[in-house]
Amino acid sequence: MGIQRSLFSIDFVAYIGPKCPICHGLHCYQRIEDYWRYAIDLFPGFRKEDVPIARFLCQTHKSTFSLLPIQLIPYFQYTVSAVIGVLLGGLSCWQMGQVGFYGAVVALDSSEKTENSDAKVTGWLVLCWLMVMVRGLRRGHAELMFLYDLSRIQTSETNVPWQEFSDYFEVFGVDPETKWRIRLHILLYRYSQRTWLFLFGTPSQYRSGRA
Ligand SMILES: [Zn+2]
Repeated sequence: MGIQRSLFSIDFVAYIGPKCPICHGLHCYQRIEDYWRYAIDLFPGFRKEDVPIARFLCQTHKSTFSLLPIQLIPYFQYTVSAVIGVLLGGLSCWQMGQVGFYGAVVALDSSEKTENSDAKVTGWLVLCWLMVMVRGLRRGHAELMFLYDLSRIQTSETNVPWQEFSDYFEVFGVDPETKWRIRLHILLYRYSQRTWLFLFGTPSQYRSGRA
């Protein structure tokens, strides 16, 4: 993986900007030692890897914030491609008329499942993932319109989440029959280049109620 190498070549100040994202003061934050977290990928095959995360200290509030590589989703132990891969499997089950989320779990081969019980993909987890993805797509819709032709996508709270997920990913050209992991990476890259935000999930510095 190029994660580690690319992390050290990133110009973080250019990325974050001169203002501290926590206190909004100029020249406040300072880079501190990276921390490591693990990330699970499922395609192709199960892989658990340690990934370095760049960390910064707001000197005013003495609190830290971090920047995740775009392959990761804040607060998720699975990579974006693991999550999307499972959801694409779930989507085909839904399109075949299955109800519920268990199909997505069964669609994973046994070799892709982990024996590690706390990291197991369950129907409940798949439902959570689907909702996080749909929420991210709705939040990013206005910006995504500059990158993709979203004219046939209607956003409404009453949409069926699988349908909405399916409509977006069809526009992105991400489906199991294509080289979807590359297209997914292009999507994440284009979005974060344009907005400097994560498409999916919310990093700690933007969460309210931070200690
Ligand atoms: Zn600060």
